[in-house]
Amino acid sequence: MRSWVSIPPGSDFPLENLPYGIFSPPGGAPRVGVALGDSVIDLARLGEAGLLDGILADPTGTFSQPSLNAFLSLGRDAWQATRARLLSLLRDESSEIRDRAGLADELVAPQSEVRLHLPIAIGDYADFYSSIEHATNVGKIFRPGGEPLMPNYRWIPIAYNGRSSTVVASGTPIERPCGQTKSAPDAAPRFGPSRQLDYELELGFVTGPANPNGAAIPTGRAAEHIFGLVLLNDWSARDIQAWEGQPLGPFLSKSFATSISPWIVTLDALAPYRVPNRAQDPAPLEYLRVGEDWAFDVELTVELESAGMRARLLAPQTISRVNFRGMYWTMPQQLAHLTSNGTQIRPGDLYGSGTVSGSDEGTFGSLLELTRRGATPLTLADGSSRAFLEDGDTVIMRGVSERPGRPRIGFGEVRGTVV
Ligand code: MN
Repeated sequence: MRSWVSIPPGSDFPLENLPYGIFSPPGGAPRVGVALGDSVIDLARLGEAGLLDGILADPTGTFSQPSLNAFLSLGRDAWQATRARLLSLLRDESSEIRDRAGLADELVAPQSEVRLHLPIAIGDYADFYSSIEHATNVGKIFRPGGEPLMPNYRWIPIAYNGRSSTVVASGTPIERPCGQTKSAPDAAPRFGPSRQLDYELELGFVTGPANPNGAAIPTGRAAEHIFGLVLLNDWSARDIQAWEGQPLGPFLSKSFATSISPWIVTLDALAPYRVPNRAQDPAPLEYLRVGEDWAFDVELTVELESAGMRARLLAPQTISRVNFRGMYWTMPQQLAHLTSNGTQIRPGDLYGSGTVSGSDEGTFGSLLELTRRGATPLTLADGSSRAFLEDGDTVIMRGVSERPGRPRIGFGEVRGTVV
């Protein structure tokens, strides 16, 4: 599909994508926009111009908000009607906007001239553990010689409840956290800056309408509740995690920061890239069975750029490449499991996939796996080596979906620099 808005070839944001975010124009208040090429389309202004009348009950009110939560709460019919209307307004053939003098200039702003914000006001945040390869890789590192995979892994979508207050927008500097750590030979722990700071390559999904009264969400109705996906970096302090996680799950080792990409790519945009689910053996319990395709063909990459590389103008180095389609547990199973005990979800909740990893070299979604907890350091283009992240390191994650005969759509990026 062609648009009258110019879109550079190879852009992550062709007309078929239309991901949602929150932006501030120069001197203006935060509002809802969609990305199109290098531009952002102002949906609040589109609502004021009357061009979304009959699509939503209150388009201007819904889109003049500093978060997407009001739009998320409207549900799938409203999301699909809005997408269909935007596609029709922005297509090359449409003159509805261009016929009105000056309107196109008010609606379309270069992304380089606006400020992008966190797209949602996050209520609850949980992080799953969907990759069986990641679970196995980590099991081999922490339980050498033993059975790497815990016996519950193939039965239950494992997760921990994270901290929503420190989920930050892409580009936010990540301060190296302090915490308690204990080295094996020491009798007592020490308190100080983490010496094993790591990233985790993930996608996260964002929910819309709540499940009233905590009614369980059957896997077949997940699409009514899942709005879209973001790139997510679950920054992790491995030394803090190793000491505090005996016997409970991550607490301060992960709650200091989680970065997400500014644009939420919708389920509707991702529909052409849905592929058959990975086989599950044993078959999961009845409430976790899924009838539709809920694996997604998204090629994910991690790039690392040290301060030394930046100073010498060296390009960021790709250190991992892995496809999201290999996840063992699917989003409907995770939502069905999460709500199976009466838990309520809300519009603007965030659910991380867990680290996305394969079993081969070059497919690991964390330094923990890539360097075997520091035992096999990584060499960077500036000649330095990395067991874990150093101050000044920038981590950049990207995701792209492409299939023959289909346009390529992307997630943009999530980036953060350790300070
Ligand atoms: Mn994680």
